[in-house]
Amino acid sequence: MICLVLTGSTLEEDISLITKHSPYIDIVELRVDLLSPEEQQKAATFPTLTTLPVILTCRRVIDGGTYSDSEKSRLALLETLLEGNFSYVDIEEDVKKASVLQKAEEKKIHIIRSVHDFVSIPTDLYHRITKIASKGHIPKMAVTPHSMLDVIQLFRVEKELVHVKNKIIVGMGPYGIATRILYKRLGSMLTYTSVNEIAPGQISPQVMKTVYRADKVNERTHIYGIIGDPVLHTRSPYIQNPGFDGIKFNAIYVPFLVDSVRSFFVLAELLPVYGFSVTVPHKQAVLPYLGKITREVKQIGSCNTVVRAKNLWKGTNTDYYGFIEPLLPLLQDGRIQHALVVGAGGAARAVVWALRNYGCKVTIINRDIRKAKSLAEVTMSNYDSLDNAKLYESSDLIVQTTSLGMGGERDGDPIKDFEFTPVHHVYELIYTPKYTKMLQRAKEKGATLYFGIDMLYRQGTLQFENFTGYHYPKRLEIDLDFKEN
Ligand code: NAP
Repeated sequence: MICLVLTGSTLEEDISLITKHSPYIDIVELRVDLLSPEEQQKAATFPTLTTLPVILTCRRVIDGGTYSDSEKSRLALLETLLEGNFSYVDIEEDVKKASVLQKAEEKKIHIIRSVHDFVSIPTDLYHRITKIASKGHIPKMAVTPHSMLDVIQLFRVEKELVHVKNKIIVGMGPYGIATRILYKRLGSMLTYTSVNEIAPGQISPQVMKTVYRADKVNERTHIYGIIGDPVLHTRSPYIQNPGFDGIKFNAIYVPFLVDSVRSFFVLAELLPVYGFSVTVPHKQAVLPYLGKITREVKQIGSCNTVVRAKNLWKGTNTDYYGFIEPLLPLLQDGRIQHALVVGAGGAARAVVWALRNYGCKVTIINRDIRKAKSLAEVTMSNYDSLDNAKLYESSDLIVQTTSLGMGGERDGDPIKDFEFTPVHHVYELIYTPKYTKMLQRAKEKGATLYFGIDMLYRQGTLQFENFTGYHYPKRLEIDLDFKEN
């Protein structure tokens, strides 16, 4: 079930949240602690205002809530509200007051016993789940993983405690995002979503339902993902998941925040993961784990796509192909012969090798000239300092590969003295914003433009082919600037 945490300060606001998000949710949690004091008194009527099952919760400050009156008054409030027709009530594990529990049992309201740990994962996690379940209650563990090893521990819950049918497991914070999306693989009966991230790492119900289709995951679902640090900003799930849906392939693509590539490969066996994209800073770190690599991975020394082949992992680099594809006719008929590549980082390596493999002469300019020199030496290119960009105005193609410009108008332009003309082909790798300051200047001078967002889409669809063996569904309109309703 996808659960929407209701964050309104009145019952009316909460009902309008349900109305707005009803296509995406199966259950709601009424957070009484977020209601104004007058509304709290009326909350028993809430289940009559909606057809969805409602969890009654009044969260204390120490558990991430806002209820700050005495514990006595909180439990008295809960007891009164249990007059309402709630489906579940959330009572923290350490609450001993028998009368609240007794009343819930009399009213046949399912009891969730919750544990919140905003710092770590309790060492006795499995024991506590079993103990709560043995009393006929639903254990809820909202805990905070801080590493890939912690995430593995959460994914093991289902394997270790398969006999506990009804349980709720939540990994909070950035490491927990994958556990929220893959909640069914943790054996969790629900995942919490919110419209304003009331707990760390929560995502919106619309994204959970329409992008990830998290509630459709079953034991046959193939898991794919992207590993990186940071990784949560990635647009790749917005390419891969609609693609899977488009070819009716039972698969899901999830962002994994990864601190240790080695640990991720352990998780990849446990789940299992069938293939994954790799982003900064792991594009080199995955190489020792690969049994097979393509020629361009060997040349570039970095891999952005890993797939399971028979008994090994195979690595490719789709940045290389995603970049070069629109330039191929121009390189082949000689319209592009000289290129100026701005930057000498990871992306520049793929760009320079691709251009060199098609016979294009390349000059690399970079802020740190030593990096430009070392890339130029292995690729048999020229190099110069970033300040000398103007000397290369006769280049046919200019490729901008630095991260300078990601802030849009507010950000810089790495080659601000360079004068563009209509004969220039100008390729920007940055994809947000679509128009960087540099690209805007090139547009005004009538140059031919190539956008980072199109390269991202192309390399993503090539990854899709690697993952599934099928072409990306052509008719699909991908909204990479996914706007929520
Ligand atoms: P990287 O390995 O960290 O390299 C960063 C590059 O940017 C280096 O050349 C660095 O120069 C330069 N740089 C950073 N800040 C600068 C500044 N203030 N002034 C001048 N130069 C600066 O990163 P990367 O992986 O190559 O990625 C670079 C960009 O390409 C990112 O924006 C990324 O999103 C984009 N990208 C896009 C796609 C796509 O599909 N469209 C694919 C891959 C990458 P120094 O060496 O002097 O530090």
